[in-house]
Amino acid sequence: MRKYLHINLDRQSIETEQLEGAALARAGRHFIAKTLLEAGVATVDPMSPENPLIFSAGPFAGTNFSNANRTSVGCKSPLTGGIKESNAGGSFSLALGQLEIAGFTLNGASPDWVVIRITKDGAITFETASPFMGKGNIEAAALLHEKYGDKVSLALCGPVGEYGGLLAGIAFSDSENRPVRLAARGGVGAVMGGKKVKAIVVDKHKMPPFHDRKKLMTSIRSYGEKLEKEVAVQNMKALGTAMMADVINHIGGLPVNNFSKGQLVDASVETLKMGGDYIRELNIERGGDPSHACMPGCQIKCSNVYVNAEGEEVVSPLEYETIGLMGTNCGLSDPDQLAELNAVANDLGIDTIDVGAMLGMLMDAGQAEFGDTGFMSEALEDIRKGNERGRLLAQGTARVGEHFGLTRIPCIKKQAISAYDPRVIEVTGVSMMVTAQGADHTTGNLPAFECAGKSVSDLADASYDMQVNSAVADSMGFCIFGRSVNNVQKEFIVGALNDALGTDFGVSFFEELGHDTLVMEQAFNKAAGFTEEDDELPEFFREEPLAPTNKKARLMSAEVNLHMNKLLERNTKLH
Ligand code: SF4
Repeated sequence: MRKYLHINLDRQSIETEQLEGAALARAGRHFIAKTLLEAGVATVDPMSPENPLIFSAGPFAGTNFSNANRTSVGCKSPLTGGIKESNAGGSFSLALGQLEIAGFTLNGASPDWVVIRITKDGAITFETASPFMGKGNIEAAALLHEKYGDKVSLALCGPVGEYGGLLAGIAFSDSENRPVRLAARGGVGAVMGGKKVKAIVVDKHKMPPFHDRKKLMTSIRSYGEKLEKEVAVQNMKALGTAMMADVINHIGGLPVNNFSKGQLVDASVETLKMGGDYIRELNIERGGDPSHACMPGCQIKCSNVYVNAEGEEVVSPLEYETIGLMGTNCGLSDPDQLAELNAVANDLGIDTIDVGAMLGMLMDAGQAEFGDTGFMSEALEDIRKGNERGRLLAQGTARVGEHFGLTRIPCIKKQAISAYDPRVIEVTGVSMMVTAQGADHTTGNLPAFECAGKSVSDLADASYDMQVNSAVADSMGFCIFGRSVNNVQKEFIVGALNDALGTDFGVSFFEELGHDTLVMEQAFNKAAGFTEEDDELPEFFREEPLAPTNKKARLMSAEVNLHMNKLLERNTKLH
């Protein structure tokens, strides 16, 4: 049994609902899609108080189940105009789970800026946010910990979210209370800002009760052992997500200079300094941490703590999507330069994918040379100040591109494409096109899929399977990097779920959870006015060959959707 809190910000009142069994199993992205669809949120103004902001923890939250404490945040996205689930690691859901809270919805808007405090004795209070307003996330978190102590986890609206910038995410505390784990995408931070909630502070406590705690503990140990046996997990632990830069650079799908090249260097003749191998060696030599757990208990430890030549911490984490978009896509080739800029973006609490795509696009349009870190720093400082230019840039790649009348705007549904060029990484390209979330690789990422000789139907098949598996992970609080176990040993995962909740799901629950999530998300976007045309790739991906493979995009929305709709319909009949 866990509580779900309906928080009315207008009246500062709380209604508590009790959830148990199956209701706790369908959490995160599934819960968000169902709630928003049933509440008819598709047609509301996303920046109005009528847009609810949902925070949902998974069924294993509150335990040290590896990589199973992610927090899903959901609302109608002010960036895309469609449904949004953006999830992040860190300790926030661990804290919620320990207080036997499955999640909460922020309804309405507070008359004044508040900090919501949730304590282990069950009290929920609304306190003034005045001392924390306008501060960067690092300073705001330090002040909040000064006031509330270290045994709390935070959800923070940064300075850009305060003024409604659509680049704004929501930052959660990591294992050591750095406020750097971002639910970054879709402008969820702007929605939190619109509700005048500066921070949510939740006590950490102790492991909560479960249906069969002993069996669950055995499953937690067993999951850890399974992860340890996986080569993919060992690679992640050693090299972090930065290793994807080596892989994607090799394949030729790395965004370089606003998606105008697919490879930064030929790694057979020159070291890729933005890659996992180089960054790991450099970081170890300097005394950094190459294998960091963003949440307590994670055994994959794909995160890192990057330090400078003096051994001082610069940023945590330095990871692939940021390397791809704020790094190579803006013409950078030095991880030290990127780390400094990444730290500023984290302090602002903004999406490094969208801000990187936007700055690369402006460099491409002639506003600066590629690699001009001064231009990037000034843009970030304007975004921090919220001056006229900063507020424009904070609206994200799509709107900034439209403002300047540009044509090479790397977005789908007004959200920036992540670090997998769809001309080469085609299955991920399909996922980014069709997902209701806007261009988001995490909805169905399969970069290593051999696309040569495959039909669009083959690509759609592979994308659908990955989209289902990813939606399951996002609906259970799992990090998708556990996928070499989760997507293969489904019976084990469902068994652990039954031990935790006392349910009796069979293995088909897994597919149903993922499939139903996709169907509801599509229904939401349809109700919000989206059509197949919104799934189209920007034209330049189809017109411009990408060096060094010289591939052009062959993916067209009508053909991709034809296959995807068949798969959705077939599986709807099966369930
Ligand atoms: S695998 Fe990485 S991102 Fe996922 S929970 Fe672990 S440390 Fe966090």
